[in-house]
Amino acid sequence: MTLEAVLSRIDETLPDSCERLMELMRIPSISTDPAFDADCAQAANWLVQELKSLGFSASSRPTPGHPMVLGRHAGPGRHILFYGHYDVQPVDPLELWERDPFEPQIEETPKGRVIRGRGAGDDKGQLMTFLEACRAWKDVHGTLPGNLTIFFEGEEESGSPSLIPFLKENREELAADLALICDTCMFADEVPAIVTMLRGLAKIEFTIRAANKDLHSGMFGGVAINPIRVITKILGGLQDDQGRVTLPGFYDDVAELPEAVAAQWQGLGFDHAAFLGGVGLTTPAGEVDRTPLEQIWSRPTAEINGIWGGYTGAGFKTVLPAEASAKVSFRLVSEQDPDKILASFKAWIEAQLPPDCELVWTAPNGSPAAVMEITDPAFEAAREALSEEWERPAAFIGSGGSIPVAGYFKDILGMDAMLVGFGKDDDQIHSPNEKYDLQSFHKGIRSWARVLERIAG
Ligand SMILES: [Zn+2]
Repeated sequence: MTLEAVLSRIDETLPDSCERLMELMRIPSISTDPAFDADCAQAANWLVQELKSLGFSASSRPTPGHPMVLGRHAGPGRHILFYGHYDVQPVDPLELWERDPFEPQIEETPKGRVIRGRGAGDDKGQLMTFLEACRAWKDVHGTLPGNLTIFFEGEEESGSPSLIPFLKENREELAADLALICDTCMFADEVPAIVTMLRGLAKIEFTIRAANKDLHSGMFGGVAINPIRVITKILGGLQDDQGRVTLPGFYDDVAELPEAVAAQWQGLGFDHAAFLGGVGLTTPAGEVDRTPLEQIWSRPTAEINGIWGGYTGAGFKTVLPAEASAKVSFRLVSEQDPDKILASFKAWIEAQLPPDCELVWTAPNGSPAAVMEITDPAFEAAREALSEEWERPAAFIGSGGSIPVAGYFKDILGMDAMLVGFGKDDDQIHSPNEKYDLQSFHKGIRSWARVLERIAG
């Protein structure tokens, strides 16, 4: 009954919600360019005022970079933290924009109405879906929902330099029972999704050195070892014929996908032919006994990102090079430990090294995967809420890329994060003519009202 009232309120006040979003979008809060420092501070202050008008106690917190915005409403129930970011990407090349990036407007397009301007989809439109849901809730109930902390960052588009220290210094305030992050896309047009698995990454570079100088292949060819031959032979064995990574112990800490999640993924009807077709490919090249979605979302990988040595200039030089190098990286899942994987890789290379070869390792670096505890009933509740709003079953999905804040929340604050976003693949975030579908904005607000109805208070 009251949920219906909140949803009606959202529908009736949508033009005002759009107006507030466009007001925020008019502030050019480009975090990477110091020329816009004052604008970032202004966007933070605008949000503080917005939060105060909703009844949150709110403040802008200084950092060595751009301020963080915190809002707090103490109430009954589990403590939920909502995260978004108010900073945006630069707008270059400006000449490719069809309008002033900071003069947003609602446009008619063949695919429906869109809000166009920098930050529409990433992330101002998305963060405002949550605030507007809170506003409608307050209008109807007279109070905000549940026990909420709002946390907006202003450096997400410039590497989040202040985020880790800020989380550590404000652990008590920020450590909630669950985080909601609104900065991702839907699975497909009108198919809502909750990202619950983010792959980690481990990477390393190395050089194999042999002779003390480049040699002439007429003079030394045959008798002297060729480091390019060594490196390609070893790295060529990184996967077997089934697409499995051959490093000893590589799969030890890889969990199987829960059956319920596997079934949901099947139900998504992922069109891998279209996915690969978009980049000119036809055939999945990963583990043969895994579906393409598993290969992207829930299975670890090893990739050779670069390999070099010898003569690569114009013409030909019959050189027998003294050294060869490679960059190799691993996407990690489940409990795979980046340090352990890199140690295993180093041992594996060392064990195959022929005489007269020497190894030099550089730039090891890694971060583990973030896998959320979907046994928390809030995840299923939110999935139901999203399915109801979009009239399509929502799915728990993975993300092949990384969304570092989710990992930091887990590692530093010990809280799981539920990543729910309403972006679309064609939102052109980070590019000219960025947009957010009006439908995403509207149904996004309604989705949060339904989620809050189920999990807050
Ligand atoms: Zn973003």
